[in-house]
Amino acid sequence: VLVIDDDAAMRALAKRWLESKKIHCLEAKNGEEGVTLAAERHEDIDAIVCDVMMPVMDGFATIAELKKNPDTAMIPVIVLTAHANTEGDVVKGVEVGALDHLAKPFSGPVFLAKVNAACTRSRAERGLRKKLILAEETARIDALTGLLNRRSFDQRLREEIAFTKRHKTPFALLLLDVDRFKSVNDTFGHEEGDRVLQHVAAAMRAAIREEDACFRYGGEEFAVILRATDLAGGVRAGDRLLGVLVGRPTLLGPEREVRTITVSGGVALGTDERFDDIVTRADAAMYRAKEAGRARIVGED
Ligand SMILES: [Mg+2]
Repeated sequence: VLVIDDDAAMRALAKRWLESKKIHCLEAKNGEEGVTLAAERHEDIDAIVCDVMMPVMDGFATIAELKKNPDTAMIPVIVLTAHANTEGDVVKGVEVGALDHLAKPFSGPVFLAKVNAACTRSRAERGLRKKLILAEETARIDALTGLLNRRSFDQRLREEIAFTKRHKTPFALLLLDVDRFKSVNDTFGHEEGDRVLQHVAAAMRAAIREEDACFRYGGEEFAVILRATDLAGGVRAGDRLLGVLVGRPTLLGPEREVRTITVSGGVALGTDERFDDIVTRADAAMYRAKEAGRARIVGED
C-alpha cells in the first residue's frame, strides 16, 4: 500500500497499522513523489491512500495524475479528507476517480478494513486481466504449434485483401500439407505426429520472413500469407521451407528412426481484382504438387 501524505505523523501511524497486518507500506511525502513512486512500483501496489490537503499538488491533482498513467490508473485510491470539509472533498474525490474515502481522524480498524477491501479488489482485477490476456492469446494461437490459428488466418486474409485493394500490390498465399502424415501417425502414434507438426512449425519460423504470417490452417495443413509478393516469390518462400526441412531431419519413435519430413505446397496470387477464390486456387495447386510426387511447391497456372 502506498501512503501519500505530507504529515509525517499520519504516515508513521498508517505504516504501523499496515505493518501490524503484514502489509508492506510505501511512503511519499507529497503528490509528485507519490505519482513517481506509483509509476515505478505499480506492479507491487494494491492500493493507494492519498491525503487531500497537501502543498504544491493537492490530493485531487495527484489522483488525476495517477489516473492519466495506464499503469497506475487501475490502482484503487482512498482519499483522506479533513473532517471539516468532508462532503465537498468526497464529491471531488469520486469525480477524479477515488474508490473510497476516510475522514480524519479515523481509527485503525476502519482504515485497515477499507484498505483491505481495496487490496482484495485490486488483486481480483489483476487476476482477471491476466486471464483476459491469456484468453485473447488462446483465441488467436494454435496451442500445439504456437503458430496463428485458423481463426487468425481468416481475419488476416480479410486484412490482406483490403490492403491489396488499397495499394494495388498483390499478395501470395502459400498452402502447405505435410507429406505422408497419416503414415507417421499410423507407424509412430499420434504423439509423434504432434511432434512432426511442431517440427514443421519450427522450420516455418526459420524459413519465413518476419512480416509474413504463418498459420496452422487445420490438421496437417499450414498456410503463409506473403505480403507484396508475386507468384514466383511465393514459390521461393515454399522452396526455402523445404530446404530447411531437408536440412534438419527428425528422429521418430522409440528407435529414434531418422526421418526427413517434407511438405507439398501450392501458391496462388491475390490481386485487387481477383482474391475471393484464392484459398481454392492455392489448394488446387497444392493438389498438383502432391500428384507430381510431393516434396515440392507449385504455383497456380
Ligand atoms: Mg495534509
